[in-house]
Amino acid sequence: MNQSLSRVIYLDNNATTPPAPGVLGAMAEYIETCYYNPSSPSAGYTGADRPRMAAAKALANLINAEGPETFVFTSGATESNNTIFAALANGKRSGTCIISAVEHPSVFEPAMLLTKRGFEVRVAPVDAQGMLCLDALTASLTKETVLISIIAANNETGVLQDMESICRVVRAKAPTAIVHTDATQAIGKLSIDLQAEWAEVDLLSFSGHKFHGPKGIGGLYVRPGILLSPLILGGGQEGGMRAGTINTPALAGLTRAVEQLAPEQNGPIQDLRDNLEKLLLATISGVIIHSSEAQRLPNTSCFSIPGVVGTELVDALARQGVYVGVGSACSSGSLHPPKTLIAMGVEHDIANAAIRCSLNHQTSLSDIHGVVELISVELLRSRQRVSVDRANFSQ
Ligand code: PMP
Repeated sequence: MNQSLSRVIYLDNNATTPPAPGVLGAMAEYIETCYYNPSSPSAGYTGADRPRMAAAKALANLINAEGPETFVFTSGATESNNTIFAALANGKRSGTCIISAVEHPSVFEPAMLLTKRGFEVRVAPVDAQGMLCLDALTASLTKETVLISIIAANNETGVLQDMESICRVVRAKAPTAIVHTDATQAIGKLSIDLQAEWAEVDLLSFSGHKFHGPKGIGGLYVRPGILLSPLILGGGQEGGMRAGTINTPALAGLTRAVEQLAPEQNGPIQDLRDNLEKLLLATISGVIIHSSEAQRLPNTSCFSIPGVVGTELVDALARQGVYVGVGSACSSGSLHPPKTLIAMGVEHDIANAAIRCSLNHQTSLSDIHGVVELISVELLRSRQRVSVDRANFSQ
């Protein structure tokens, strides 16, 4: 693994995060000792019904939901997002659905499937900074709009959409449309209030491992009064909204992670991110920081070094124990350039050069210096390789 550094530098937290303290211990209890059926009438005696309730309460508290009953737990944001589009397709409703041009594939692909089921799907563009064009959105909205799904914080660039303004525009032109936001990258990094700025958001998706919880658990907030049909049938769990034995260990871990989130205390992470960008600009000629003029997640920096292939640089860094992201957080091995950057009008070769550093509370200034130093060394190495190749070619 790590060939030259004595420790790992992990800057790929938008892909997945390390578990928060106590997460593993909380999970172990529900694997080893309290392994009982959480949906049995005995659950009140065995205690197996506790993790689900605790997780729902902790989440309701975090994002100011009406109460714990507003959450449906799933295997993660991918399933939550798919559930929404499947529910729309399974329902009687037809009409128009609007998504942004910078949605995660777990929104984009199920949305596109709707076009085969008689729905019209409109894709609202973003500007060069990655912000949704509100005028274009307004023009797309009609009384026939049944669903609008807009990512709250982009996984590639960290750009935050202005949910409050988006909802205002939607309610003015399509008052009955359901508003969904994929908040997978926003939970834990932003203060969210479902009774204030986000009071018009009806559905919200999240994934535990993006905020220091375990993998394989996530969910959907469903505003009281919104009815969805389930994607997974055959057991009646989650109030009939998602069949399958409830993942009590993962929910116990999720609760422990949620209890430790403090989105209002992200100032130091943002300072480190800003330091990273200053250092990059000072050290690497021609570096382009994407979406630097937009409101962004405090932990995310997406940048391109012209002439570099992002995947190659990520590979070279990983060989030395420095883990950063390339393109979409989870599109493994894809040679397609980051979709978000292309939607922003970034040229293909610059988009292909993009890498993403996403920090967490454990990131230190020495990590920041370490990654910039290693990038500089790698650039020098690859330029020397090119000049040796050229010299050999001309012999
Ligand atoms: N939405 C966004 C914005 C994401 O970043 C991700 C993960 N990359 C997902 C959805 C899917 O999350 P999961 O893989 O945990 O289901």
